[in-house]
Amino acid sequence: MHDFDDIELFECPRCHGPGLIQEENGWCLYVECLDCGCHTAELPFHSEEERQSVARHLATTWNLGKVISPAIGD
Ligand SMILES: [Zn+2]
Repeated sequence: MHDFDDIELFECPRCHGPGLIQEENGWCLYVECLDCGCHTAELPFHSEEERQSVARHLATTWNLGKVISPAIGD
């Protein structure tokens, strides 16, 4: 399920690449840059309602530029 179409993501704060909401095994979400690989912290969810609010929170975090750099040599 990728129904986050109404959530706006700015371009990557580091490289201006495209950001995408990623879902990890159905229990947590994060936003990742498809170009440089930097990402927000992962946030777990426990229900569909929580999943939507987590996605919105992550989008805000991403849009504020609060991202983690990918590991060196990754
Ligand atoms: Zn990037």
